[in-house]
Amino acid sequence: MTVQKQSVCKLCRREGVKLFLKGTRCETSKCALNQRNFPPGAHPWARSRHSEYRTQLREKQKLKRYYGVQEHQFSSYFKEAVRMKGNTGENLLGLLERRLDNVVYSLGFSPSRRGARQMIAHGHVNLNGRRCGVPSALVRSGDQVSVTTRDNIRKLAKSSLDERSSYPMPSWLERNSDKIEGHIQTLPKRDDVTFDVKEQLVVELMSK
Ligand code: SF4
Repeated sequence: MTVQKQSVCKLCRREGVKLFLKGTRCETSKCALNQRNFPPGAHPWARSRHSEYRTQLREKQKLKRYYGVQEHQFSSYFKEAVRMKGNTGENLLGLLERRLDNVVYSLGFSPSRRGARQMIAHGHVNLNGRRCGVPSALVRSGDQVSVTTRDNIRKLAKSSLDERSSYPMPSWLERNSDKIEGHIQTLPKRDDVTFDVKEQLVVELMSK
């Protein structure tokens, strides 16, 4: 799990986009990007030199930070994406989307991916009826994801669901809000990833 010591809002400010790292606060006017939409640091504009490498690097960092994965994990996903049939960039996005922490977050059971990772690591999430403590586990078509029967955890998940019920949910997932469980209908496609990322730039960088 990524240990993030600096303020996570700085990551969004560095990339210039919302990475949705702070739960429901990200949807409010308190979002740091609404108030300080410039890179962090004493001389934010001094570093704005542009190069092909820099553009590719920023795109990769953006993607890693959005899904909360570390460099070595990201490299493993990339190698797997290359091995798979089809477009490498789309394969990479598909693998990241299929992470269990992303699924728990996308289903609305947690206000952030970081919160979802914690829930899973503490053993509060079941995959196909069995406890799964691995946030990076990849879901498959037909899988079922649910929250444990512990009252306090279900209350937390329910309150997150209530807050996020109006947010759009990816079409490859199906949710039963009453039971606090979700179903993987199909594997995610490129169109299911609404985050604005140019995955081809990431592939170009990682292929060097
Ligand atoms: Fe990013 Fe959320 Fe902070 Fe806004 S509130 S800057 S989206 S982490």
